[in-house]
Amino acid sequence: MKSLTFKELHLSKDVERAVEDLGFEEPTPIQAQSIPFILEGRDVIGQAQTGTGKTAAFGIPALEMIDPDVKKVQVIVLCPTRELANQVAEELNKLAKYQKTKILPIYGGQPIERQIKALRRGVQIVIGTPGRVMDHIERKTLRLNAVEMVVLDEADEMLDMGFREDIEDILNEVPEERQTILFSATMPKPILRLTKRYQNNPQMIKTVHKKLTVPLVEQYYFEVKRHVKPEVLCRLIDIYNVKSSLVFCNTKKQVDTLAETLRSRGYLVDALHGDLKQKQRDKVMASFRKGDIETLIATDVAARGIDVENIEVVFNYDIPQDEESYVHRIGRTGRAGREGTAFTFAAGKDIRKIKSIQKHTGAKIIRKKVPSQSDVEDIRAELLSQKVKDAVDAGHMGEYIHWVENLLEEDYTSVDIAAALVKIVLSDVKK
Ligand code: AMP
Repeated sequence: MKSLTFKELHLSKDVERAVEDLGFEEPTPIQAQSIPFILEGRDVIGQAQTGTGKTAAFGIPALEMIDPDVKKVQVIVLCPTRELANQVAEELNKLAKYQKTKILPIYGGQPIERQIKALRRGVQIVIGTPGRVMDHIERKTLRLNAVEMVVLDEADEMLDMGFREDIEDILNEVPEERQTILFSATMPKPILRLTKRYQNNPQMIKTVHKKLTVPLVEQYYFEVKRHVKPEVLCRLIDIYNVKSSLVFCNTKKQVDTLAETLRSRGYLVDALHGDLKQKQRDKVMASFRKGDIETLIATDVAARGIDVENIEVVFNYDIPQDEESYVHRIGRTGRAGREGTAFTFAAGKDIRKIKSIQKHTGAKIIRKKVPSQSDVEDIRAELLSQKVKDAVDAGHMGEYIHWVENLLEEDYTSVDIAAALVKIVLSDVKK
C-alpha cells in the first residue's frame, strides 16, 4: 500500500507543526485521498465513518484556505449534533494552534445571546447544527456572504434528523462559487440528490473495503474508558504474565506517553515510532528480540517493517483507524502456527468501530469484562492451577519429587511446601 506522508501534502508550516504536535504519524486513508483534492479547490464527497480521521481531512485544507486578514466567516461546517460540533471545534482548534483563526461552535441548547456576542467578535470558521445556524441567519447575527467552503459532516445523520430543509436554506445563503465538501458514512439516494444539486463536479472518495483474510488469532475487546486504559493494560499483562507483546497507539505522542507510564510502573517497555533514527530503531528491535524489552509500544507506521516471532499478545490500545490496519496489527501475533491473542480497547464510540471491523472482515471479536484488581489475583491463581495440573499429568518429575521429599524429611508438610511455592511463583511474576 503506497501511503502519502504529511510532508508530501506540502502544508503550510503552522499547520504542519500543529499536526506534528498532535503526534499524527501519517495521513489516514481518507485524509491521504481527499486532502489533495480539497486543497486544489475541488468539491469532494467522502464516504467515511467517524474515527477515520475525517475531521482533519476537511479541517486541514479549511485552515490552509482561511485568509487571516479577513475577519468574516469563510468556512461553515454543518453537523448533526451539539456533541459533534464541539468535537470538530476542538480538533480544528488543535490544528489551528499556530494560527490566529477564530473558530466557534454554535448549536441549539446553548444560550443564543452568548453565541451572538462571540459571533460579533469576528469568527472565521463556524461549526454548527443546521437549526441553530438558520436561527442566526434569520436574526442576521450570522452572515455567510464571504463563505468560501461549506462542509456537510455526517450528512446522512443530518438528513435522518430532518435537517434537509435547513441545510438547503443554508446552502442557498452561501455564495455559489464556494467549495462544497460532504462527508457521510452511507450514500442513500437523498444524499446523492443533495450532492447533485449543490456540488460542482465532485470527486468521490471512498475508502474501499478490501477483502481481508483475518489471521487465526483469538480476539477480544474490552470496553475501557480512556483514563483507565494504562491500568487495564498493566492488569492484563500481569494476569497473563505476558512476556512479549506489541501495543499499538494511533499517535507518536500517545506512544511516548504510554511508554513513560509503563516504565515508571516497572515494566520492561520501549517505544517505536517514526521520529526514531534507524540506529535507535535497530537498538530497540534487538532488545525486543532478546527479551530485554517485553512490551513494545508502536505506531502502525513504525511497526510496519518489523518481524518478530513469538509475540504472544497484540494490544490495540487505541482502536485502529480502519479494518485493514486492524488485520495488519493482529497478524503480528500467532505466527508460525502458534496461537496468539489480540486485545482491543474500545471507549465510547469505538464500539461502533468494533462492529464495523467485524462486519467487513468476518472477524469474531468477543467482548470481555475488564478484570478488577481482585480478579487479577484470582485469574493468575487459576492459570497457575491449570499449569500445575498439566505438569502433574505430563509426569517426568522424578528429580523434583526427590527435592520435595528432602523437605518433607525436615518436617514440613506437603501442603505448606506447595502453598509456599505458589506464593513465590505468584509474587515473582512481575520481577
Ligand atoms: P475523526 O474521524 O475525525 O473523528 O477522528 C478520529 C480520531 O483520529 C481523532 O481523535 C483524531 O485526532 C485522530 N486522527 C485524525 N487523523 C489522524 C492521523 N493522521 N493519525 C492519527 N490519528 C489521527
